[in-house]
Amino acid sequence: MNLDLTVYYNLFASQYKSGSQISGRITERWASDNLYCPKCGRGLIQYPNNKPVYDFYCDHSNEKFVIVPRENFQLKSTHNFPNGHFSNKIQGGEYGTAMHSMKNETFPSLILLHYEKKAMAIEDAVLIHRLAITPSCIKPRKPLSITARRAGWQGSIITLDVIPELGRIMVINNGNVVAKSTVQNKWSVVTGLLKGNIEQRGWIADMINFIDRLPSKFSLNDIYKYENELASLHPQNRHVKDKIRQQLQILRDRGFINFIGAGEYQKTK
Ligand SMILES: [Zn+2]
Repeated sequence: MNLDLTVYYNLFASQYKSGSQISGRITERWASDNLYCPKCGRGLIQYPNNKPVYDFYCDHSNEKFVIVPRENFQLKSTHNFPNGHFSNKIQGGEYGTAMHSMKNETFPSLILLHYEKKAMAIEDAVLIHRLAITPSCIKPRKPLSITARRAGWQGSIITLDVIPELGRIMVINNGNVVAKSTVQNKWSVVTGLLKGNIEQRGWIADMINFIDRLPSKFSLNDIYKYENELASLHPQNRHVKDKIRQQLQILRDRGFINFIGAGEYQKTK
């Protein structure tokens, strides 16, 4: 993987006038030349320009006899990287569409790219696994006012810190390329853990997000402390404590935690 963007800059700087257009083309082309599908390892394919929501895909075309759904990706890049981290809140698309696409499994995975403008180099790349993006992390924005050109249109905000840490997979970290095998392993762990429909994986993702805050060994009472927060994220559920215990069993069956007896749990990862 080559993190130097100079060659792309030379290619596009004379073709476009606006800085954001140039940056957009540079990062797009870089991603197309360098990034790979975290599921099968093949290079990503770029959609024709101006396709909304999706920028890249992989159809895993080496898996000839099995029909595997296409994996879609949306690229978001920034050269403005406050405090060494991506901003916690990133712009999402139209709110209703985002919620709908989560339900029918068409929400794309996100590629967050950070590049240094001065050095013309890629610094960080994070993959957000689409299964880790659940209704808990999408917040509606205020609808546009009636005087706006798109009056009533309602955008959304994706809140990154509500996404469990394992769903945020580093591909490049501070200018260092993470081994492809590591990225692929992490991806398949998330795929295995966050199975099920949106309601099921929404619960699992939220549980993992709260367990992330606990020490590697924790008790049922530790996780019960998040009962109110879980209840407000899942208002349709009345028996939250029962649900928590059920989720802990699922997390044990999927290898995320071990039961060590007497209401005590141990994280495996
Ligand atoms: Zn693939």
